[in-house]
Amino acid sequence: MDELHKIAKAYYETANSENKDLGHRLFKRMDVDGDGQISLHEFLAFLKNEGRGEMASPSFFKELNKNGTGRLDLMEAMTLCYIIESGRKFCNGCGEFMKGIFLSCMECFEHEDRSFNLCCACFEQGRYVHSHKKFLDNYVLLETKRLDALKEKNAAKTKLRREAEKKRVGEEIKKNAPTPEVITERLPEPVRVIRHEVVPYNPHQGNIFHRAALVAGAVVGAVISRCSIM
Ligand SMILES: [Zn+2]
Ligand SMILES: [Zn+2]
Repeated sequence: MDELHKIAKAYYETANSENKDLGHRLFKRMDVDGDGQISLHEFLAFLKNEGRGEMASPSFFKELNKNGTGRLDLMEAMTLCYIIESGRKFCNGCGEFMKGIFLSCMECFEHEDRSFNLCCACFEQGRYVHSHKKFLDNYVLLETKRLDALKEKNAAKTKLRREAEKKRVGEEIKKNAPTPEVITERLPEPVRVIRHEVVPYNPHQGNIFHRAALVAGAVVGAVISRCSIM
């Protein structure tokens, strides 16, 4: 328990004032008679009230009470807070608090609301009833989970990299594609209207003006000759 007291003390000393206040308020809630210490009776009542019945035992109280005074002071109560907050485990076989290495059921760890944990002695001697068979100790379990998380992270990174590469290639192809021809509608050439003058024409007599001239010439000639005859 010494190590746990040291860790809890380190967390308390480095906590900001808001978190320290939270710790003090929790201590006051436990210290019902307000004498500045937690009696066994106050300790048991508090844990049962918090739904932490598995911790509510005189033996656990004794372990927390490193000063051996029979009452918990502020720092010993902070160790209790640390144990609760960090989810430290109690053996599902003998019910004892597990300070060191323990074994956890993999199936329950991954799929159940509550994990199933055993101290080394209970596991070794088979002092438990449980339907699952695969257990890992807390260190191997932590490492397994770390590697799984790393694998997931790397897979996500690879996926992101592939998506970025796909996007880049797509943009490159788009950029290098020939510019589509601008098809302008070719308007039809404006129709050039050539105005032809229609002149009545007789191939034997020439056109009407020519003929008129000839007729006029003949008439004039006739008149002249008639005058001469006269
Ligand atoms: Zn046990
Ligand atoms: Zn299980």
